[in-house]
Amino acid sequence: MIQELLLIVVVIGIVYFMFIKKKPLAKKKTKSEPKSKELSEELVECVACGTYSSASDSFLKAGQYYCSRECLEK
Ligand SMILES: [Zn+2]
Repeated sequence: MIQELLLIVVVIGIVYFMFIKKKPLAKKKTKSEPKSKELSEELVECVACGTYSSASDSFLKAGQYYCSRECLEK
């Protein structure tokens, strides 16, 4: 019985963790954090059109970079 309860708690925890993790990730691109500063000098390729732009100027969505909002919404 305790094992079942533990399983439920773990499942809820995972779901909760995923929700919590997703939201800050989307916010990350709009506000530059010190961690992403290292990446700002790097050139990243836009997955939509292939244009290279600095990581600080590109939009990050789901771990992929987009050069502009247009490409992001494609
Ligand atoms: Zn693009």
